[in-house]
Amino acid sequence: MRVLVVEDERRIADFISRGLSEQGYAVDVAYDGDEALQWADVAEFDVIVLDVMLPIRDGVEVTPIFRTRGLKTPILMLTARDAVEDRVRGLDSGADDYLVKPFAFAELVARLRALTRREPAAVGTALQVSDLIVDTTTREVSRQGTLIGLTSKEYALLEYLMRHPNQVLTRTMIAEHVWNYDFDNATNVIDVHIRNLRRKIDDPFATKLIQTVRGAGYRISARQSV
Ligand code: CA
Repeated sequence: MRVLVVEDERRIADFISRGLSEQGYAVDVAYDGDEALQWADVAEFDVIVLDVMLPIRDGVEVTPIFRTRGLKTPILMLTARDAVEDRVRGLDSGADDYLVKPFAFAELVARLRALTRREPAAVGTALQVSDLIVDTTTREVSRQGTLIGLTSKEYALLEYLMRHPNQVLTRTMIAEHVWNYDFDNATNVIDVHIRNLRRKIDDPFATKLIQTVRGAGYRISARQSV
C-alpha cells in the first residue's frame, strides 16, 4: 500500500512516515498543499493522510481540487481541534474520514485499514486466495493453518497481490504501490522479493499460487496457468 502523507511539521511527518513504513506501507511525504497536488499527478496512492493546517493551500482547499481532478483515493484528514465545524468542513470538502490531533498511532493505522478495506477478495479483515490467508488486522499470514513469517516488505508485496487476485500486475504497478518514490525501480529488487515470497508461501505446498506471466509481470491465483 502506498500512502501520501501531507504534513508541514517535520516532526509529525517523520513520526507518521516512520511508523507507517514499519507497518509495510510505502510512504511519500509532501510538506505543503501544492506539493501534495504535484505528488498526486505523478504517483498513484492507495490512501492519503492530509493535515488541515498547511502552508500555501490548506487541506480543506486541496481536497476539492483532488476531487475535481477525478482523484478517488480515500483521504484521511488530520484536524488540530475537535470542533464540529472543522470536521464538517473537512468531510464536506471531500475527505472520507478525519482524525483529531493528537492521536494514537494505532488508531491512525486502523482508520487507514478501514479506508482501504473495500476489496473483492476480502472476508472481514482477511484476504484469501485458495488456502492462503492474510489477516490485514494482525498481519498474520497462513497457509493450511500454518503461520508464515514474512518481512514487512514481503508482507506489503503479498498484500498487494492478494488485493488483486487473478490479475496480472506489472513490475511498474508493483513498484508504484509497494515502494515509494526513492525506489530506483530496479526490477531485480521486485524479482528478488517475489523469489523470497515464493520460497515461504509456495515452495512447501503442492499448489503454487504466485505465477509469473511471461513478459508481463506476476499474478496470484488458485487457477493453475497452462
Ligand atoms: Ca500542519
